[in-house]
Formats: sequence, structure tokens, C-alpha cells
Amino acid sequence: MFNSLFKIVFFIGFILVFIVRKINTANSKKQTYKVKTKSTADTILLSLNGIGMVIPLVYVFSPVLDFANYSLPQWLGWIGAVLFALAIFLLWKSHHDLGHNWTPVVGIVQEHKLVINGVYKYIRHPMYAAHIVWALAQILLLHNWIAGYSFLIAIVPFYLFRVKKEEKILMGQFGISYKKYMETTGRLFPKF
Ligand code: SAH
Repeated sequence: MFNSLFKIVFFIGFILVFIVRKINTANSKKQTYKVKTKSTADTILLSLNGIGMVIPLVYVFSPVLDFANYSLPQWLGWIGAVLFALAIFLLWKSHHDLGHNWTPVVGIVQEHKLVINGVYKYIRHPMYAAHIVWALAQILLLHNWIAGYSFLIAIVPFYLFRVKKEEKILMGQFGISYKKYMETTGRLFPKF
């Protein structure tokens, strides 16, 4: 009974993420890149992320993955719901604050501005943080070894691969301003 309730909660969250993404990325296709970094590793890791996001939908809508089910206490499912809501809010907020500087591929666009306000005042990678929180919420909502963990397994290597590349490119573009920004912020957690 609660298993299917948390599946519904997950699906609603998934739809909300999709809407936030669609609204905020509609203009990104018009962007002209000054610098663009795209490699085979990037494509592979992005595709794995896509798979990690879609596997739960297979679990929600069909019984094929049910052989890998296990049970978790109900309260953990509710923590998952709260975490998912937090992830959606953080995703929306970081898109809102990053504005036209958002790109699907790591790069620098024309008229790229260094964003150091809003949520970026505290952490440098709120959008990646939102994805990691979403992946943790997925584990708590979907009590299945495959569907629960599929996104976390994909997002961690993606994050580790991207974060260094991204900071290098931003350092190249903004130099001392980015260095100073790094001194006052953490990657995923605020610096105290
Ligand atoms: N890593 C960030 C942004 C992800 S979108 C986050 O997790 O919130 C990826 C693009 O954002 C990259 O092409 C990068 O150039 C740009 N970017 C990342 N941090 C930025 C910042 N503080 N100001 C402006 N652009 C930024």
C-alpha cells in the first residue's frame, strides 16, 4: 500500500522536475557558446544519467523490476518525499539565479556573467546538489535495489567528472574573481 503511495509521490516529483527544467531551459538553445567542452566521456555520463532517471518510471508503471524489491520503514519514505521537494526547490532556485548562464554542456556563452548571488552566494554547485538530493530521495521513495539506486549510481561519477572541468573553465574566464568566489563558498555545502 505505502509502496504504491511513494511511487505516486515520486512520479509527481518527477513531473515537477520536468516542468522546472522545460521552463528554464527553453531559451538555452538560442545561446551561442564562446567555449564549449564536449567529450565522449561527457556524452556517456549524460546518457547514463538519462537511464538512471528513466529506470524508476519503468518501476512505477510496470512490475518487471519487482523481483528486486525490499522493504523500508514508512517514515523513511516520508523523509524521501521531503528531500524530493527540497531538491525541486533547489533546482528551480538555481535555474532562476543562474539565468541565461545555464548550459547543458559545460562552457562559456556570449555575455557570460559570473553569478555570485542568490543560492550561488553559499554554494558553487546548487544545481548538481539538487540532483544529488533527488537521487537520495529516490532511494527513500522507491524501495527497490535497481530503481532506487539507478540515479545515484549515475549522478556521482557525472558530478565528479564535471565539477573539475567546470571550475577550470570558469577560472579561465573569470580569473581572480572566480578564485575569490571559491574562497567564500563550498562546492555542495556552504563554507562556515
Ligand atoms: N555547476 C552549476 C551550474 C551547472 S550548469 C550548478 O551546479 O549550479 C553548467 C554551466 O553553468 C557551465 O557551463 C558553467 O559555465 C556555468 N556556471 C557554473 N557556475 C557558474 C557561476 N557561478 N556563474 C556563471 N556561470 C556558471
